[in-house]
Amino acid sequence: MDISEKISKFIDEHTDEMVRDTMKLCEVNSEKGPYEEGKPYGDGPFRALNEAMDLCEKYGFDVKNYDNYVACADMNDKESGLDILAHMDVVAAGDGWTVTEAYKPIVKDGRIYGRGSSDDKGPAMCALYAMRAVKELGLPLSRNCRLILGTDEECGSSDIKHYYAIEKEAPMTFSPDGEFPLINVEKGQFRGEITKSFDGELLERDLVYFKGGTTVNIVPGKAQALLKGFGLSELKDIYEETEALTEVSFSFSEEEGCLKIMAEGSTAHASTPENGKNAALALALLISKLPEEGSERLSALNRLLELFPYGVTDGSGINIKMSDEISHATTCSLDIVEISDGGLFAKWDARTCAASNEENCVAPAEKAVRDKGFDIKTDFLPAHVVDGDSDFVRTLLACYEKYTGKKGECLAIGGGTYVHELKNGVAFGAVGDTTDTHMHGADEFMIIEEMKTAAKIYAEAIYELCK
Ligand SMILES: [Zn+2]
Repeated sequence: MDISEKISKFIDEHTDEMVRDTMKLCEVNSEKGPYEEGKPYGDGPFRALNEAMDLCEKYGFDVKNYDNYVACADMNDKESGLDILAHMDVVAAGDGWTVTEAYKPIVKDGRIYGRGSSDDKGPAMCALYAMRAVKELGLPLSRNCRLILGTDEECGSSDIKHYYAIEKEAPMTFSPDGEFPLINVEKGQFRGEITKSFDGELLERDLVYFKGGTTVNIVPGKAQALLKGFGLSELKDIYEETEALTEVSFSFSEEEGCLKIMAEGSTAHASTPENGKNAALALALLISKLPEEGSERLSALNRLLELFPYGVTDGSGINIKMSDEISHATTCSLDIVEISDGGLFAKWDARTCAASNEENCVAPAEKAVRDKGFDIKTDFLPAHVVDGDSDFVRTLLACYEKYTGKKGECLAIGGGTYVHELKNGVAFGAVGDTTDTHMHGADEFMIIEEMKTAAKIYAEAIYELCK
């Protein structure tokens, strides 16, 4: 038998055990909780991490715990070769589960259902079983492979900051917290907070409040505004025209003698704003067709709309439009807009191409916003790019091709993964390229066949990269 056949046989024979271990971890509700002594993210992540460590020990790996932020398991004590970075924390269970309850994992139709099954406990077990295969088959390694399990991936990755403050990054890292084939480019993240306070009182005809969006990385699907002194008759023609233009629908009612307008569009993730219909901007567009008549609130809303026109998701309104070959085009969406007595507050989320930097992106955006009379605070995290032609990436893709029969190629994404701030880190599986596992939603699942394939790919990758 050649090495691939041995690996396949090992994983096939241990699949039931891998599924059982995954389900055991999925029973633990490891949503982030308040800090406790020795449990930096609360009891759930602590328990999941320690259960996983028990498994690693049981299978004969040396484990090391970094203050319950992160723990790791080593294949040997040789020099560092490859790190595999996965996580034990999960997002909140949420509503809408139908197949089972979030923390009562079951196997049905060849899938494990349960919170964390695909993000990221199942993939973590694929990595652990890959390490078991290499170890128990006695494949010789000259370098170490280390499984690193974190507990704060979903809430800002402060766990691995703790770890990397102590330990050096391995020469190569992959995270089974994405999809196949392989993600080597992640756009930068550029967020801005726009504010403006108002001096005067409400006028006879004015905007009482405006509300759209609650989360900085989600395109708002709903928005509402309250107008004082304006009648529905003034909006009759313009709202139908605006609906046709934006595909956002409006409804009207009376509230405390004022005209209330509700807008309904559709949400999207901020990394793909073109997939949404931004209800806040559509509503701002509708209101912009009314006369300002000296209202500083209406004027502020109109100036905001000039910076973020409805339907424009390339950032051109704030002068950050750019694209390059590696990471494609910058996207930008204004996801929170609030106007009230307290003033104006708005936030955007842009995903910037690899060429964007402080000079050509941050500075012009800040200037554009200030030129409209607003105050601005920004936060910029540059893009993450790993050479798609390196031996490391080519080896991973070759392993992928061998066990899937599919073409292995690099992907660029707008979101950020666990490896965003590592020099030589990529996301590699464990979910198949065409599968939607309802990650972060109800009825999250992991396909058992895909787990087997991932474990085999990882085992061969460990051997090839550390032999
Ligand atoms: Zn994840």
